[in-house]
Order: sequence, then C-alpha cells, then structure tokens
Amino acid sequence: MNIEKSQLIRGTKSDFVFIIGLEIHAQVRSKSKLFSNASTQFGAEPNSNVSFVDAGMPGMLPVVNSFCIEQAVKTGIGINAEINLISRFDRKNYFYPDLPQGYQISQLYEPIVGKGKISIQTEEKLQKEVGIERIHLEQDAGKSIHDMDPTTSFVDLNRTGIALMEIVSKPEINSPFEAVECIKKLRLIMRYLKTCDGNMQEGSLRADVNVSVCEVNTFQSFRETGNYELLGTRCEIKNMNSLKFIQQAINYEARRQIKLIEAGKKVDQETRLYDPSKNETRPLRSKEDAHDYRYFPCPDLLKIVLEKEWVDKIRDDLPELPDQKQLRFINSFNITPYDAEVIIAEQSTAMFFESIATNADGKIAANLLINELFGRLNRDNLSFDENPVTAKQMRGLIILIKSDQISSKGAKEIFDHIWRSGGDPTELVDKLGLRQVQDTSLIEKIVEDVIVANPEQVDKVKSNPKLIGWFVGQVMKKSQGKADPKIINQIVNEKLK
Ligand code: MN
Repeated sequence: MNIEKSQLIRGTKSDFVFIIGLEIHAQVRSKSKLFSNASTQFGAEPNSNVSFVDAGMPGMLPVVNSFCIEQAVKTGIGINAEINLISRFDRKNYFYPDLPQGYQISQLYEPIVGKGKISIQTEEKLQKEVGIERIHLEQDAGKSIHDMDPTTSFVDLNRTGIALMEIVSKPEINSPFEAVECIKKLRLIMRYLKTCDGNMQEGSLRADVNVSVCEVNTFQSFRETGNYELLGTRCEIKNMNSLKFIQQAINYEARRQIKLIEAGKKVDQETRLYDPSKNETRPLRSKEDAHDYRYFPCPDLLKIVLEKEWVDKIRDDLPELPDQKQLRFINSFNITPYDAEVIIAEQSTAMFFESIATNADGKIAANLLINELFGRLNRDNLSFDENPVTAKQMRGLIILIKSDQISSKGAKEIFDHIWRSGGDPTELVDKLGLRQVQDTSLIEKIVEDVIVANPEQVDKVKSNPKLIGWFVGQVMKKSQGKADPKIINQIVNEKLK
C-alpha cells in the first residue's frame, strides 16, 4: 500500500504521516433519555427536561431505555460490527457541576458493539476501509453557562442523561480529508438508519479528534509490524462540531507536533481545545489516566442481555444502506459513481430519484435532478422538502427528452416554466412551441431546399467533409430550431455522400 500525497506533511528533514483516530459522540434519536423518561427536545426552556434521576437526587434508580439499546444495535449492524449479546454499564466517576450524579454511566469494559468498519474515499479517490474499535452507550452531561452574568455561573441540565453512542475509530485515518469523510459516512449511515439525526449545529454529533504524527519511514515499519507504539504521542482535540474546524484543527495540531519533534522536544499527551478565531489548539488539561475515573460496574443496573433472534431480526429488517444504494444505482440506472454519490447523500433525494428514473431513463433523470433541480434549489437557498417540482412532472419531462420530442434546450425551458409556475410538461411542450420536428419527409424537404440553393457549398463539401455541419446549421435555422438534430444529420449525410 502506498502513502498518498494527501496523507503526508512536509517536515524540514523528512516527511510525516497524519495519524488520526476519532471518538464520535452521536446522540441517539430517542424522545426520552437513556435512564429516565424526561424529554430530549432540543431548545426547550433551561432545566425543563430534568427528572429526579437526571438531577441525581438521592435514592433515584436509573431504568434503561430499551429503544436506545435497539438504536445502538442497529448502528452497530450498519457498520458491520460485532454485536455483544452481553454488555454492561459502568460508572465513570468525576465531579463537574453539570453532572449532578457525580459520575457518568458509560460502558468501558463490555461495550454493546465491538469491532466494525466503514468504507470511505481518500482525497485521491481511492477506496479505503477504516476500522471501528467499538460503540458504547453513555449519558450526556449538562451544560454550564458562564457568559450570562459577570459573577455567577448557571447550569442547564436538559442534556443531562441524554443517550449518546460513542463511536471509537481505530487510528487508521491518515489525512484531515479522510477524518471528515469518516464523520460524513457515519452520519449518513445513521441518518439512513434513523438512529441519530446527525445535526452538528444542535450538538447531536460531536467529535473528539486524536492526532499524532509519524515519520514516514517509521510509518512503513508500523505497517509491517502493526506496533501502535510507533505511531507517536497523540493529543486529543475535544468536542468539535464543525467539519471545517476539524480539518483546520488537525492541520494545525500536526504541524505543531512536527515542530516539537524536529526541535528535539517531546509531544506531551494532553487534551487540547481548538480556537477557530486564532486557528490554533491550546492545552486544556494533561491526560488523566483511565484509573483516575475509578470505573466500576454500575450497581444500579443489570447487565444488558440480548437475544440472538432479536438481533437477527434487526439485521433482517435493516434498510438499504448508502453504500449498497450507491452501487445499485450505478448498476441498475447506469449512472456515474459521482452522480450516484450526490443522489444518495440524502434518503429523500435517493427515493425521489428512484421514483423518476424507474422505467424511464437513469442518466436523463440524474442529469435533470442534479443540474436542473439541485442547481435551482441551491441558487434559491431551498431545502429538498421545499422542492416545487413533482415526480410526475419530472417523469413527464424525462420521457419527452428520451423520445427526442424536445431538445436539451427545450427541456431547460420547460423546466424553468415548471419551476416558476408549474404545469404538465406534456402540455407545455406544445403550448411553448418546443416540440421537435421528427417528420422525416418534412426535414428531407428542407435539406433538399438548402442543397439546391447552395451549389458552391455542395462542391466544397466533397473536398472538405467538415462543411456538412454548415448544412445541418442551415436546416436547423430553416426549421426555426425545431427539427430533431439527429434526423437532420442523418439525412444531410445521406444526401451529400
Ligand atoms: Mn464519551
């Protein structure tokens, strides 16, 4: 396996490879919290979605939300992972004002989902698999608010106890681009599965990014030996919820580490924060060892025991996943991998495409959808839900194009009309006078007229066959742009040969 250009950063003496691992916190799409029946609604009045369990009141007992368990299992199956039929919750002890229990209920020793993998494309467009180490379930913490009052801090416990899936990747990501592709792919899979809405602005998807750098020859030895100790000391950049900032933070952090290494200093393992306004990372705290948290099995909760039949049923009922859909679209609709990728980027657009392309024409459908429809939605800043064009109108237009009843220019005009004021394309084609003339004898008559009127050009064509285009143009002009260019070409060629 070669090292690609995008995976390298230039040092002063030698090149380095990015080594990146992700810990993604994905909020389970559940109406209630992981261990209480409080609502998870975003944007609610502060501290209005807090039960006694979430507030850590003495004597309260957590009760596991089986729906959240199911979503984690679904997500695990979606990334081809092992599902652990027995898993367990542990207490991770630490004090923070937004964590009233004094511990977070998480899964350290026996997570619900084991090793899996996802497939991404590198910047050089090569297919690559990235290993997932595990997915565990845990509670989210609340939010401390320090900027509402000059002397007092506040706490909002609405988020406290919301179910998170922590998806931990292997350190197999080798460029900022790949890191973003991994997050996008996981988000897409979870959106298809409806297990997480993936809304990064609302904090439903956040990533901690582990970054280290590895001198290029050392990296080759790592590939031969699989010895992770060769990969260098990592720093963890906490709580990122913007793909752009994740890319910038990795780039900054890798360069910072290379500078240290080249100056003969060592990289300290620590947690850092990225400051987008300065485009730099700075230390937050040195990395506590895991035993500082005094993890132990949560005595309030039983082990989670899943029945194999139940897991198999979820596997059987799983919807088609993005990778499978893309492949099927390429094969059965004969569209390019790029077009297929654009179309499957949302489930709703994939469904729409399938409904307009089936028994019509995949290529024309993809072209209309991406260039005409998405183009206009983008221009007018509309979401796909606000799309004014129906599947029926699209199909009508596709059939008109496929059967050569309109030119591509005519199709654009009809599309514009539908976009602005609706209408049925099969009626609009005549109403707007856009129907192509396909009457062969009529076109033949025009071709003959043009030939008779231009004897010198006819002579010239014999020595310069390229002039045939001139005749096609004349015929097109005489038909007021309505004659089918395929038929004109055919007849002109026949007559002048
Ligand atoms: Mn976590």
